[in-house]
Amino acid sequence: MALSGIEIFKHLPKTNCKECGFPTCLAFAMQLASSKVEVSKCPYVKDETKAFLEESQAPPIRKVIIGDNFAIGEETVFFRHEKTFVHPPAICILIKDEEPKSIWEKKIASFNNLKFERIGFMLKANLLFLENSSNLKAKFLELVSYVMKESNGLLCLSSENMDALKAAIEMTKERKPLLYSANQSNIDEIASIAKEYNLPIVAKGEDLESLSSLTEKLISLGIKDIILDSSPKTIKEAFYHQIFIRRQALISKFRPLGFPTIVFPAKLTNDPMKEALYAATFIVKYGGLIVLSDLAGESLFPLLVLSLNIYTDPQRPMAIEEKIYEINGPNEKSPICITTNFSLTYFIVQGEIDASKVPTYLMIMDTGGLSTLTSWSAGKFNGELISAYVKKSKIEEKVSHRKIIIPGYVAGIKGEIEEELKTWEVIVGPREASDIPIFLQKFKT
Ligand code: SF4
Repeated sequence: MALSGIEIFKHLPKTNCKECGFPTCLAFAMQLASSKVEVSKCPYVKDETKAFLEESQAPPIRKVIIGDNFAIGEETVFFRHEKTFVHPPAICILIKDEEPKSIWEKKIASFNNLKFERIGFMLKANLLFLENSSNLKAKFLELVSYVMKESNGLLCLSSENMDALKAAIEMTKERKPLLYSANQSNIDEIASIAKEYNLPIVAKGEDLESLSSLTEKLISLGIKDIILDSSPKTIKEAFYHQIFIRRQALISKFRPLGFPTIVFPAKLTNDPMKEALYAATFIVKYGGLIVLSDLAGESLFPLLVLSLNIYTDPQRPMAIEEKIYEINGPNEKSPICITTNFSLTYFIVQGEIDASKVPTYLMIMDTGGLSTLTSWSAGKFNGELISAYVKKSKIEEKVSHRKIIIPGYVAGIKGEIEEELKTWEVIVGPREASDIPIFLQKFKT
């Protein structure tokens, strides 16, 4: 269990030397307790104390980095409403070296090209899972070489042929691939490869018990970045394993299972629709890497949006960047609309303006992610603040007119804005977004 600031303070030197950047040891302890600094910032903590504090402050599920900075794990709760889920799972595509080259091409094209912009995030699949299904070194290296040329995605190298695996690592080491997998028969050899190249590794057990023995052994061999594969044979078993592993990590603090997991909808069914449903299940129930047999827009998009929603902090409104958005190619005569940066408001308004086909400037103002009426009642969308934003935004340099359209629900602030922006005319727009297209089509600047 994580220590409190006072408990951590008891283990610090208490000299208040300030070398950690904090005025006192107590202040440093408080920051450590909330995981805002690392214990290594204090040069006077003894090694054994440092190890103890790091262990006590570590999340129950270890954070594992794949590539330079793609993180999974570090989760601390069962349900997102308790706190928040931290790192969304990696959506992976499985490519086997025995598949025809035309399939490689198609899968890599889907991986590279299927991207979706949503509330300021670019959503896409994250990792190419390359499988040496032939067990032939030359065939595997041909696939790895092809993928290295055609995509810059994250990689997982899967082979039971250690010679092939090592050669593939040599070709891909700058991308810091994930290794798949350590099992009872190869654990010493693959652990030494993982250590030599400093790469994360999947531990694959035949069941939960053998999996935890494997991770204990990997830990004892000095491997820290581990991902768990419990080899479920059915969706029911996979679902049970995911929940069991999280319970063991969070409630029992059982370190051998305190790692992110990898799951394979691709291997649990041949039905693409079921595969997408299984993937959705693992987005909600604790998958760290989710391996699909292929990527199709109609299933990938909802999966990525589900992941975005599940891994968004429910205590913070989803907001988009404050700026002037240009829709339908506006010019100096185009109307200007203004609204708040609550993402749902933005998407609805942006969609209606887009549908109107009227070139328009949409000014999005930072109201802390609150919707129009909520931000108005909280004093974050009033005449004074809107006027200040209009001046700061330099929208005047983009248009030859001085008319600005405000949401119909805040018609009451028209006078306030005109008080501040003497040269501007404030137009009250529709209350309902669905009326925006007709309003804009009739609007004259
Ligand atoms: Fe205390 Fe260490 Fe910080 Fe010095 S560096 S103030 S001893 S915590």
